[in-house]
Amino acid sequence: MEQLGMLYEGKAKQVYLTDERDKVIIRYKDDATAFNNVKKAVIANKGVLNNRISAMIFGRLRDAGVENHYISTLGDRDQLCRRVEIIPLEVVVRNVIAGSMARRLGIEEGTIPPNVIYDICYKAEALGDPLVNDHHAVAMGIVTYDELRVIYDMADRINATLKALFASTGVTLVDFKIEFGRTEDGRIILADEISPDTCRLWDAETGEKLDKDRFRRDLGHVIEAYEEIYVRLSRVVGLAL
Ligand code: UDP
Repeated sequence: MEQLGMLYEGKAKQVYLTDERDKVIIRYKDDATAFNNVKKAVIANKGVLNNRISAMIFGRLRDAGVENHYISTLGDRDQLCRRVEIIPLEVVVRNVIAGSMARRLGIEEGTIPPNVIYDICYKAEALGDPLVNDHHAVAMGIVTYDELRVIYDMADRINATLKALFASTGVTLVDFKIEFGRTEDGRIILADEISPDTCRLWDAETGEKLDKDRFRRDLGHVIEAYEEIYVRLSRVVGLAL
């Protein structure tokens, strides 16, 4: 496998082409951003931890029958993935009210709703990734209603698998963001990453935040929280490295 030129650089990752047209190398960086790029920092070793954590989670999801882009881990920061065309939607799944939903609707953070809540946001940085609904997404030609059904069904299965996985490590999966991509043959599969950058993870006993909110809210001990998630997951998931 030979690494070729960079295809794309995002806030936390770089994507490289390879000599196999259907595969890319994803490199996890230490850069952290929040509030639509207003707050920026380098968190030493974050990329290494997120590469490992995301690999463990995607491996577990594959075992649970959720098709995804992860193929193998190549090194500390690099993973080999299937090349997909990212669907420009951030799909957020919420088991506990927190963050933007708590703020927007005036609900106390930590409130447990009777149902699981699914948000979709249009990935468009210039617009601040606005919250949209199914009809908006279809009207913009981003997805069809049939594809949305597939996406929500996968999000549901991902949530069930990850809630159980994190619960077994003493962590509550409060909410998370996922992204999907289309393969060359038109299948929709899970892509991007799942890590403390993209999830809210609270210690089930103490409620301590073990995720990117430590960075967003200046709570300190950011990397220690990511390490804690890595260590806890490693105890229950076979190491992907
Ligand atoms: N999230 C993310 N990327 C984003 C926005 C949100 O990974 O660009 C994750 C975030 O970490 C949380 C969930 O999606 O786990 C819900 O975030 P929310 O909508 O509450 O937004 P926030 O409070 O992060 O602005």
